Amino acid sequence: MSLSPTRVFAALNAVRPLDEASPVLGKAVVLGGSVAGLLAARVLSDHAESVVIIDRDDLQVTGGRPGVPQGTQLHALLPGGFLQLERLFPGFREQAVAQGAVGAPPEARRNYLDGRLKVVVPDDADSLAGSRPLLERLIRQQVLRLPNVKTITARGTGLVIDGSVVTGVRCDVGGVTGVESGDLVVDAMGRSSRLSEWLEQSGWEKPVTRRMTVDLNYATALFRRTETNPAATVVLALHTPAVSSDVAGAAFFAIEDGRWMAMMAGYGDNRPGRTAQDFVRRLREQFPPEFGEVAGNEMLGDVQTYRHSDSRRRDFHALRRFPARLVSVGDAVASFNPVYGQGITAAALHAACLSTYLRAGSNLDEPAREFFAAQKVVVDAAWSLSTSADLALPHVDGPYPRGYRLSSWASRQIVAATVTDVGIARRFNEVVSLREHPGTLARPGVILGALRANRRAR
Ligand SMILES: Cc1cc2nc3c(=O)[nH]c(=O)nc-3n(C[C@H](O)[C@H](O)[C@H](O)COP(=O)(O)OP(=O)(O)OC[C@H]3O[C@@H](n4cnc5c(N)ncnc54)[C@H](O)[C@@H]3O)c2cc1C
Repeated sequence: MSLSPTRVFAALNAVRPLDEASPVLGKAVVLGGSVAGLLAARVLSDHAESVVIIDRDDLQVTGGRPGVPQGTQLHALLPGGFLQLERLFPGFREQAVAQGAVGAPPEARRNYLDGRLKVVVPDDADSLAGSRPLLERLIRQQVLRLPNVKTITARGTGLVIDGSVVTGVRCDVGGVTGVESGDLVVDAMGRSSRLSEWLEQSGWEKPVTRRMTVDLNYATALFRRTETNPAATVVLALHTPAVSSDVAGAAFFAIEDGRWMAMMAGYGDNRPGRTAQDFVRRLREQFPPEFGEVAGNEMLGDVQTYRHSDSRRRDFHALRRFPARLVSVGDAVASFNPVYGQGITAAALHAACLSTYLRAGSNLDEPAREFFAAQKVVVDAAWSLSTSADLALPHVDGPYPRGYRLSSWASRQIVAATVTDVGIARRFNEVVSLREHPGTLARPGVILGALRANRRAR
């Protein structure tokens, strides 16, 4: 009997690493050593005698790296993702804080919607703030501490397929071609993954890629932070399309090495904050006073910009022909409008899908359909959250799902109620941080509660 998406979601959120290793694989090969690849490697270390992570970048180098160009931009770790990291790496929080990450418990997080401060959910889950390179480094340290995991610096160039089974990966190491054989291959090459083309070149079907144009422009800047223990460490402010502003949102986080990281975003032709002067002015003029206070500090370095064209997903679950011993995780499967901060958390849930698939003793000589079916639940959930919000943007023109008008009305009610009602805000936070399935918000009780809260607030 197949489980409902809500139950699949609850089960994935409860997945814990195995107490005792039970290898069913000799060697697993993970292509891509960023967050999704590292989390997959953590899971595989329980099921394989050895795990090899291949990345075109040298992963021993700390700080930003070319393979992750988004690394300069502000990255939120949603509480759902933080919980997953704590499960995979017990004691993660303590070690992260010891290396400079900044605690972001519920009372230290502030959220503004159209300039109105939202209620705090006091019993919400904990989280952390830090730069993207720090978060990735912390995860990498935990994974590379495992005795059966190692990394290789090489560029993956194709698959080795024997009949209907993937048996390895072709690699280029400094111009020399080689093969890394493995009993399971994981594609974690990010949103530009070439896996679809590799499959097609080998005579297999390639997945349909669905896209939704978002045309998002990000700008991030660093400021000196003088407070050692600021009261608010994670502050976000969103403008709904109803508010006329060329800045869709801004945020600032306390990060390692006594710095604030501030971000602002606009859509389409709106490219706010590209120069230092413009960045500071807009933070002061268009956001609550605390944004102006952060912008009053010394700016460290230049404003870093990033353009994100679309949300995209590759529907591996729908392929009729797919080779065995091959899976894909993270942004390679689905990457969303980054404003919602879902990527790391979604990657952690994909790792949970992999753990569930391998624990179930699935037949690895068949295509990994059970894995892709569970992953589809995660992708559908994150996709529906991000694209339904994006469809409300004036420059986005579909595709609109069935029942869109009703669902967008209901979500506007719920979002408005999160400003004043702790109960609705709690449920909403659980869903947007991918701890609960979005279906739990569509219940009549939640919508009625939101309507009542909005009436009270008027
Ligand atoms: C502007 C922006 C802001 C974001 N903000 C957030 C946020 O606030 N919160 C959040 O959770 N997520 C955010 N994300 C998403 C987040 O960055 C990703 O979801 C996360 O990094 C996981 O991605 P990944 O590991 O699948 O792929 P990536 O991080 O893109 O990594 C892919 C890896 O594959 C390697 N690689 C690629 N091709 C090859 C090859 N042929 N051979 C070998 N190696 C290869 C690359 O070097 C890289 O290491 C943001 C994204 C963007 C663009």
